[in-house]
Amino acid sequence: MKKNSLKNLEAVDKTAFCQDLIGWFTEEMRDLPWRKDQDPYKVWVSEIMLQQTRVDTVIPYFNRFMEQFPTIEALSEAEEERVLKAWEGLGYYSRARNLHSAVKEVQVKYEGKVPDNPKEISSLKGVGPYTAGAILSIAYGIPEPAVDGNVMRVLSRILFIEDDIAKPSSRKIFEKAVRELISHENPSYFNQALMELGAIVCTPTSPSCLLCPVREHCVAFHEGVQGELPVKTKNKKQREVHLAAAVLKDDSGRTLIHKRAEKGLLANLWEFPNIEIHLPFKTEKDQVKQALQSEYGADAVLGEMVGKIEHVFSHLTWTIHVYEGSLTALTEEKPDLKLVTPEQIESYPFPVSHQKIIKQFYS
Ligand code: SF4
Repeated sequence: MKKNSLKNLEAVDKTAFCQDLIGWFTEEMRDLPWRKDQDPYKVWVSEIMLQQTRVDTVIPYFNRFMEQFPTIEALSEAEEERVLKAWEGLGYYSRARNLHSAVKEVQVKYEGKVPDNPKEISSLKGVGPYTAGAILSIAYGIPEPAVDGNVMRVLSRILFIEDDIAKPSSRKIFEKAVRELISHENPSYFNQALMELGAIVCTPTSPSCLLCPVREHCVAFHEGVQGELPVKTKNKKQREVHLAAAVLKDDSGRTLIHKRAEKGLLANLWEFPNIEIHLPFKTEKDQVKQALQSEYGADAVLGEMVGKIEHVFSHLTWTIHVYEGSLTALTEEKPDLKLVTPEQIESYPFPVSHQKIIKQFYS
């Protein structure tokens, strides 16, 4: 930690800052479904869904999820495939799997009550310092920091903090700042207000300083450097992976689908049989046929490539060439390799990239 990272903290009038921030939030907060009450389970689900995902995208998912799994008990008893299906399209599926297993633990170990202390809540799978702080403050009114990228951006400007927010070690600096500033009367609104400010006023590229409720307290605004903060080093270049997938139908119109491994990227989701292509494009079709035989036990007559799907993850990009074909033989169906009808396919959870294949090339 740089010695003077929080050099401007002392000068902040903390009472006035909290009043301005919380007063604004009380008036202007968006009407979001997880704000209707302080149920810790709902706060938890919403915070997990909101990681890496926009509010507008999350709202319908959250509502549907709550209809299907209204309580800790309901979610803890659900099959994982149903949970993944409800999450389908939101991406970052390990969030859903971790939430599911943590909820089961809460049901068994804490009799269905979400823990209300940092130690126990932080030990749950998928509950990092941000989520723990969000649940503790919003649902239980405990003055714990909830620091994510948004909050770091806002505070880096208000306090003119120049530490690189891409470095994991910087979080501690911002947590320290929140611990100093947080309202002990209303920690829930304080944390939510910082998040809201980052979402709708102090946005990444063009902060609306003239509409900002804490402009008076903002060092970056006074110095005219809000556009230069936060300091954030760029991500490493994304890895590009080239795949080929086959949509294969048998004589009765059923399609071959495959379940991904239990661990790793998109674990336990379903997909069309596919392989990673390493060799030049002209030999691609032969590689696909060979892999269908060796990896899936499937013989097929493959047509020409029918299209291309691109999907960007945080760390890699997939380019998938899609082939259609007829399945002429299959060694055996297995729990992770099935032939399904068009009606059945709808009940299986697919990652977004393969949903795009269904939408564009599956009929
Ligand atoms: Fe962000 Fe501008 Fe408000 Fe400062 S004054 S917190 S830079 S919106």
